[in-house]
Amino acid sequence: MDAALGAPAKMADREGDLTPMMAQYFELCREYDDSLVLFQVGDFYEAFCEAAERVARLCEITLTKREDSTGEYAMAGIPIDNAESYIERLLEAGYRVAVADQVQDPDEVTGVVDRAVTRVVTPGTLTEDELLRSPDNNYVACLTATESDGGDSDGSTDRTDRTGPASAPGADENGPYGLALLDVSTGDCYATSAGRLDSIADELGRFAPAEAIVGPDAPVDVFDGDCMVSPYERTAFQTESARERVEAYFGDLGLADEAEVRACGALLAYAEYTRGGNPDAGDIGDDSTAAVAGPDGASAEGEPTAALDYINHLTRYDPREYMLLDRVALESLELFDRRAVHGHQGLTLVDALDETACALGRRKLNDWLRRPLLDEDRIAARHDAVAELTGDVTLRERLHELLDDVYDVERLVSRVARGRANARDLRSLHDTLAVVPDVEEALADAESKTLVELRENLDSLADVRDLIDRAVREDPAAELTEGGVVKPAFDDELGALRETEREGKAWIDDLEASERERTGIDSLKVGHNSVHGYYIEVTDPNLDSVPDDYTRRQTLKNAERFVTPELKEREDEIIRAEGRADDLEYELFCEVRRDVAEESERVQALAERLARLDVFVSFASVAAKFDYSRPEVGADGFDVEAGRHPVVERTEERFVPNDAHFDEQDFFAVITGPNMSGKSTYMRQVALIAVLAQAGSFVPAASARLPVVDRVFTRVGASDDIAGGRSTFMVEMTELADILQNATEDSLVLLDEVGRGTSTADGLAIARAVTEHVHEAVGATTLFATHHHELTAIADELPGVFNLHFETEREGDDVAFEHEVAPGAAAASYGIEVAKMAGVPADVVQRSRELLDESDAGAARGPAAETNGHDASESVRVSNTTDGAQNGDVLAGDDADSAADARLAEELEALDVATMTPLEAMNALAELKASLDE
Ligand code: ADP
Repeated sequence: MDAALGAPAKMADREGDLTPMMAQYFELCREYDDSLVLFQVGDFYEAFCEAAERVARLCEITLTKREDSTGEYAMAGIPIDNAESYIERLLEAGYRVAVADQVQDPDEVTGVVDRAVTRVVTPGTLTEDELLRSPDNNYVACLTATESDGGDSDGSTDRTDRTGPASAPGADENGPYGLALLDVSTGDCYATSAGRLDSIADELGRFAPAEAIVGPDAPVDVFDGDCMVSPYERTAFQTESARERVEAYFGDLGLADEAEVRACGALLAYAEYTRGGNPDAGDIGDDSTAAVAGPDGASAEGEPTAALDYINHLTRYDPREYMLLDRVALESLELFDRRAVHGHQGLTLVDALDETACALGRRKLNDWLRRPLLDEDRIAARHDAVAELTGDVTLRERLHELLDDVYDVERLVSRVARGRANARDLRSLHDTLAVVPDVEEALADAESKTLVELRENLDSLADVRDLIDRAVREDPAAELTEGGVVKPAFDDELGALRETEREGKAWIDDLEASERERTGIDSLKVGHNSVHGYYIEVTDPNLDSVPDDYTRRQTLKNAERFVTPELKEREDEIIRAEGRADDLEYELFCEVRRDVAEESERVQALAERLARLDVFVSFASVAAKFDYSRPEVGADGFDVEAGRHPVVERTEERFVPNDAHFDEQDFFAVITGPNMSGKSTYMRQVALIAVLAQAGSFVPAASARLPVVDRVFTRVGASDDIAGGRSTFMVEMTELADILQNATEDSLVLLDEVGRGTSTADGLAIARAVTEHVHEAVGATTLFATHHHELTAIADELPGVFNLHFETEREGDDVAFEHEVAPGAAAASYGIEVAKMAGVPADVVQRSRELLDESDAGAARGPAAETNGHDASESVRVSNTTDGAQNGDVLAGDDADSAADARLAEELEALDVATMTPLEAMNALAELKASLDE
């Protein structure tokens, strides 16, 4: 993003001559210099000068010119009515947008209208439904490091010295780190701390914040590319001001961890800053005075107050309380689209499990999958609820139907508290509350402790519902200031005003008849237009009959329009009553909204329970529909009968279930088999079953006894990521190092083709060493899919290691994958058949067979690479790019055909076909063919 977005230099030069409005604009640009300022002028948000050019380009709107005493400058305006769609484009282009609204009524001031920034729209602090799009949480994060006292931390401390200022065991030099996360649209707030940056990175993987602010000295490279990171005012991170702010919001939590306090406090300050510092500032005419905060987050009054009082509950957690699923695991297990807006279209785990009825449930489901439990009792309690609902289809369907009528009251109540809710929002809240008694009734016979407790704690907020029902019309206007919002019966004065209005209008309705009678003009009409108000219309031929008390108001082509003193008086009365009533409605509405805001916490508590219930119902529906069973969590090992992959089984016509048995005797499986035989799917399904079980769901298996898994590690060999284009071997080894350092015997480790990013010899050595280490030092349950058949021999050497393999069946020249796991190591490889399936041309496949047969004739063909050893693999390594020089090396020399054949045979022999991806096989075959042609 460009620096100094808003204050273009060329304007600053002529600042002395600026018009008052432009001076105001530039003042705001300076104050919000990290944002694009959109400046309200009537019905438009304008940008000027260079900012205008940018806005015009990004939003594809016309750039206009404007001239004043300082000369000509550019201007671009977006219509306020449709502002969100333009703001979205600016956000996508990486900007923050500061919206400066008119905070005075233009009719009531002479001179220039005051404007103030009422919100700074940033990717992580969105609250507008139009911008949020999906119901999923949208987090902004704040990361703090050890507070440095002045300058001594950067110069004198050796950053590589691990004995630096760290206090927690295992902490790195800038730890302990504090991390806070906030969803401004719902008020969900989390805080945690960790000694090591790795742990912070894992938590960021879990929450995938869209934006982050970082404190002094906090690292920025832990955030991924999807996260907008910005530094924030240093002062907001000072412990004392941060603590005051945290306490203003959450009360005294006795937060001892300073890094956490500073992260939380700064984040709250930032949230206030993005709301223009005052939740009500945006509503012109609202009686609250606009105390707009500056970017340092302190309110104008100085003392921090809970400006966003719907943020009232902080969840502090220790990452170790939940099954840890780091970024790599979340991605390779495909739990979520990491961010719905940019996400891909494939089915994710959360999609496969989402039968929730309302947005509250969908968010809760995400949360539970993101943070599977470790506590056996809590897990069992969730399973109890799911079991009861799985067994009772009537109850389940009834609850689903009721929850279908539940609005996103979390976001709704945050709008209420921010003074942004309209009358329709309140009616939606009312309708949601109206569902609660029915939910209670539906749950009347529930037996599981979880559901009983849930029912007993449902608060239907009858008082709030009643208030809304008495005050707000059933089908209210969208606008708040033009009437049609509050029921007349709600307030005596309002009732009287609306009665006056009604009587006046009734009198006017009768006027036509009475005037026709009085004047004898049958064609006389009474009407109304917005410019001239009420009138009596008489056509030209009848003008002679017009009485004396008629005053001319308007002349038309064939008629004249008149008023009478009485009509004028009635009209004024109606206008007065109407205007006053509209204003009064707005005032009353704001009062009601404030009263409802007072109950935010209760609404949030209710929302939480409805969300949980929705997830239970969803889990139960999925369990019933897809034949899941209740897992038993807390066993010593894995004992899964006929397990399935919850996502792949939805897309495969015929999914083959597989068992999984791991215990102290057999905890490390070396899995072999050709490509596409089902190894990865099998490993992932074991992990997903564990994740589902600990999240509280039933699992896709005939039966499952499972241990409590503390962490799932998944590492997929780098060469499988040809298309992804990541730097290969280094990534692989970094991830591997993480496992070796952090896995425990309660962890589940999935290694898929680790060691492929290097030569066969290296790869084998690394794979072997990893196996030994994980086996001896860690003792984690491990599934290791490998193409190194040599590794299968380890099963005989190391206790606890055993072989599994996937079979293929040859059908003539084809192979069919059975996808069935079996004990023991795979024997044959099927590379050529796989190449054929992948679409390699028939003549190439045919020639490969011939070559293979020739080479088989020479030497009995055993498991690949075994006979030829490592040097062959070294010299004829298959590379993804066609390396002409290498081919030349290999094939140059003898010109005799037989020698060439021998070379080819040797090359072919060295190919480890069992392990090649189809693409690699294709490349290798192409190379071979090319060398033949030579
Ligand atoms: P590998 O890891 O051995 O290369 P995968 O696990 O990626 O193989 O499986 C290849 C494809 O086979 C998957 O994309 C899936 O479509 C299908 N598959 C895998 N396991 C099964 C199964 N148990 N039943 C049916 N189809 C399966």
